[in-house]
Amino acid sequence: MTSRRQSRREDVQRRLKTLSADPKRCIVLGCPEPTRASSGDGFDQRLCRRHAEHLSTHGSAFRKTYTAKELAPGRAKAKAWLKANVDTEACKIAKERIRILYHSAGPLVPAYRLKGMPPKERSRKAWARLREALIAPERILEAWLAVSATIATDNEADTRPEFRRVQAAKIVHRLASGTHKVWRTPVSGDHRAPRRLPALQRACPEASW
Ligand SMILES: [Zn+2]
Repeated sequence: MTSRRQSRREDVQRRLKTLSADPKRCIVLGCPEPTRASSGDGFDQRLCRRHAEHLSTHGSAFRKTYTAKELAPGRAKAKAWLKANVDTEACKIAKERIRILYHSAGPLVPAYRLKGMPPKERSRKAWARLREALIAPERILEAWLAVSATIATDNEADTRPEFRRVQAAKIVHRLASGTHKVWRTPVSGDHRAPRRLPALQRACPEASW
């Protein structure tokens, strides 16, 4: 181990010791566990390990990710709203801004190469992935509105922005999942063309496949 790494390690251990000298309980209502900082398990001074992990998975320390069934009424409201407001200035601007994100996302990067990239760059590449999967901007808006409508009627919702963002991102991520596979099908003779069937099916659900 280099001396630089060693001194960094010692510094982390010293800071952990200082934090654990002042024990505090996790801030989630009813949780009896000490915070990670208090138990010498990290620097989190608000949450215990279980609730910190819950936060990183769901975007909330206490509210779980919505199921498809829980989201269904919100989705219906979002679809109806978008249909009724498709020609409004707000809708047009929102869709245009999503198109700008698509166009400024740069080339698509395979998922295995995203590891180690800064978060900002990874989020740009997420837009590139959606663009390549031919996801219409309306579908992104629908996801955001569906989550917002669900949160508005959920008495136990976590109303912090992070929960809304994570829940919408989970839906949006699923829109483009499975597009890494490219099928090759014979077109005529020996000529073969790539065929991204699932992505196209999602983009044009009304077409006969
Ligand atoms: Zn806790």
